[in-house]
Amino acid sequence: MRRQRKAKIVATLGPASTDIEVIRQLFEAGADVFRLNFSHGSHDDHKRRYDAVRQVEAETGRPIAVLADLQGPKLRIGTFAAGKVAVKAGDAFVLDSDPSPGDATRVHLPHPELFRVAAPGQSLLIDDGKVQLKIEAVASGSIATRVVNHGTLSDRKGVNVPDAVIPIPALTEKDRKDLDFALALGADWIALSFVQRPADIVEAREIIGTRAGVLSKIEKPAALQQLEEIVRVSDAVMVARGDLGVELPPERVPGVQKRILRICRQHGKPIVIATQMLESMIDSPVPTRAEASDVASAIYDGADAVMLSAESANGRHPVPAVAIMNRIITEVERDPLYRNLLDAGHEAPLSTRQDAICAALREVTQIIGAVATVTYTSSGSTALRAARERPCAPIVSITPNLEIARRLAIAWGVHSTVSPDVQSVDEMVDAATRAALAEGYAEPGDQITIAAGMPFGQGGTTNLLRVAEIGGAQPGKTPGQATASTAPAVTA
Ligand code: PGA
Ligand code: MN
Repeated sequence: MRRQRKAKIVATLGPASTDIEVIRQLFEAGADVFRLNFSHGSHDDHKRRYDAVRQVEAETGRPIAVLADLQGPKLRIGTFAAGKVAVKAGDAFVLDSDPSPGDATRVHLPHPELFRVAAPGQSLLIDDGKVQLKIEAVASGSIATRVVNHGTLSDRKGVNVPDAVIPIPALTEKDRKDLDFALALGADWIALSFVQRPADIVEAREIIGTRAGVLSKIEKPAALQQLEEIVRVSDAVMVARGDLGVELPPERVPGVQKRILRICRQHGKPIVIATQMLESMIDSPVPTRAEASDVASAIYDGADAVMLSAESANGRHPVPAVAIMNRIITEVERDPLYRNLLDAGHEAPLSTRQDAICAALREVTQIIGAVATVTYTSSGSTALRAARERPCAPIVSITPNLEIARRLAIAWGVHSTVSPDVQSVDEMVDAATRAALAEGYAEPGDQITIAAGMPFGQGGTTNLLRVAEIGGAQPGKTPGQATASTAPAVTA
């Protein structure tokens, strides 16, 4: 089973997609990565969905990535005696440290850190920005504000303070429990929400180790101040446009999306564009033209993956939403303009041995018209550096590690496979030609390019580029065994 496209689809699982039959259909329609959203649902719910994904993986034999998305330090107001209150522009409204239920003049704010960093003149946004409050005065344990627009405040609505860097750890108590649970489950990626600084990622990685990849969700303006460093210490990044679009005025989101994308492509870190991509499909069986165009633009920009949230988690049409995303991506990738734009956005290789080999891989692949680029990788790094090059031929990744194969499902152009460790270059070439044949990427007589790192089994050592021709079925030879290579092994 192979996809006919390079960019990937992340589908969030939720009440509309808990049933294994739906998850199977989502996979068949094109979902490469499934996201468990720890802002909602119980551990039992997540486990049920996780098990269903692994069941589909076993049935199809295709490695699937599971992304566990931690809620992070999402700020919320307390409760109201009446459950909700109406506020009018010009009203005075206070947020304070008093846990008693609120009314039309005040409410509890259970985040003491905020009293220390909030400052007069800043905006305080409630319920995804539906109610805007202007801060007028801050005292210990209270923030006095003026209501900017008419609206309704209700129990435990989210709070955003875009202008403040909030001194709270990236992982809350709940996140730590969810993280332990997700790692025990076997999640391949851990998404960190509301990342503010590189230290947030470093802190999470101390717990995660190498058990999962760490994906940073960019949804706070503070993160944009240290974007490059955040990208550097992360394994992947998400443009989380939902919260980002609350914290920033909407007109700034497109430019910021492109900037994040560019930095990620520079560093070769998988980049996921998320939220409201096909929002109208929560109810409607077809997307709006603007939504189709939004998905397409992300693909033209060279994103690794596009994501569905409520569309697949709570919507009425989860499978059609994945199917239309699949069609949009496929159509874009067929457009000759796509290659032009992809190449125009291509960044020069970093001056490392690994990137030099992968840049050569891309060149050789194009010049000789290789039908596949095969990467032999133990840590996943050769496949990711090859993906950074956005080569014209599909990247067939071979790794002995199932966890790495799963993790790579998020990366642009990578078709992940698992195969036992090899001991020599000949064995590797043989494994590469067999994989290209078996996965349907090559036929006898075709040429493939191969990148790997020697010694085998050691991560990050990419130093070998090889060209091989797929042999025909000859007596005494297994089909796909390499015949004479057209080029000698290059060892850096
Ligand atoms: P969320 O993250 O769905 O967990 O809020 C994505 C976003 O904010 O866009
Ligand atoms: Mn968010």
